[in-house]
Amino acid sequence: MKYIVVLMMALAIVACTSSVNAEQETAKPTNIIFLIGDGMGLSAVSTTLYYGDEVSEFKQFKEIGLIRTSSATHKVTDSAASGTAMSSGKKTYNGAIGVDTTKTSIPNIAELVAGLGWNTGVIASSTISHATPASFYAHIDSRSKEQEIIAQLLESEIDFFAGGGIAHFNKRTDGADLFKTAKEHGFIMDTTSLALPGTLQAGQKYGFLLAAGAMPPMTKGRGDFLPDATNLAMAQLSQEEKGFFLMVEGSQIDWGGHANNTEYVVTETLDFEKTVAAALDFARKDGNTLVVVTADHETGGFTLSALKNEETGSSDYNKIGPTFATGGHSATLIPVFAYGPGAENFKGIYENTEIFHKMMALVKGE
Ligand code: MG
Ligand code: ZN
Repeated sequence: MKYIVVLMMALAIVACTSSVNAEQETAKPTNIIFLIGDGMGLSAVSTTLYYGDEVSEFKQFKEIGLIRTSSATHKVTDSAASGTAMSSGKKTYNGAIGVDTTKTSIPNIAELVAGLGWNTGVIASSTISHATPASFYAHIDSRSKEQEIIAQLLESEIDFFAGGGIAHFNKRTDGADLFKTAKEHGFIMDTTSLALPGTLQAGQKYGFLLAAGAMPPMTKGRGDFLPDATNLAMAQLSQEEKGFFLMVEGSQIDWGGHANNTEYVVTETLDFEKTVAAALDFARKDGNTLVVVTADHETGGFTLSALKNEETGSSDYNKIGPTFATGGHSATLIPVFAYGPGAENFKGIYENTEIFHKMMALVKGE
């Protein structure tokens, strides 16, 4: 009897060990949701603990790393070079979209997974042709060529997009009507509102352009555009069960930083946090979705200083009075948060280009 119990225990241990191994071998996400808070340094992330409801969604993450964001040409990157580093795994010059330092096109993750049959989407709370989203579908020597960039969107592998930029479609210097081009490329376009999740046709391409230029800031009534568009995209891209890659940018945290405007940074970060919550909800239910959240760089040298009394010069350690060190970007390390299959690979301190390589290794099951 005693022998049988020992034997059964031994078998149980073997069974447990082999199932753990099996899990490690199959750490292969079927979907990847990549969320970028433009200009979101650690202090911006920290505002979720001091402003709003103070229950930070970022606390859900157990696998956290740090990236260095410097570009090939500058210690302090811009969004184009950093976006390209993360989308394509190569450091390039500031201003470059999807091209290397010799201005040669380099494949991005959306193109690579589309080649494997995945669906792809991009969402931004600025124009959809802005540097960060552009890095996931365009190849051009300068981020400033937004009209050319948005034309490349329609020719790209992207199946779903949402953001601003109607004027780049119908008020162009070349006189072209990109709504016509979009139709020719199989897109159903909507310039009035987002659809409700679950109401879109499987396998159909959709484009939502909801502002002439950039989407409005949160303080000027953007509402739940970013989390809603993310929920819509996740529902749509997962319909065919082919796997999907979705990039979502909280674009305007950066603009709050440039403006040295605390309210702007905080409201945009809280909106981004809500979007992260939507992605995590989907990933928890799905079980095979990797969620990676990071920023392209920090903006503003933003810090949660103790409130300073201007008259006495003394600081009140019971109150936060945020301050900014610059109107531009900074080179500070940026946090990376990961959840889902392969999330543990995102721990450590590494270059922003590794984000691409880590995601692609998981796609390939390496
Ligand atoms: Mg951006
Ligand atoms: Zn910026």
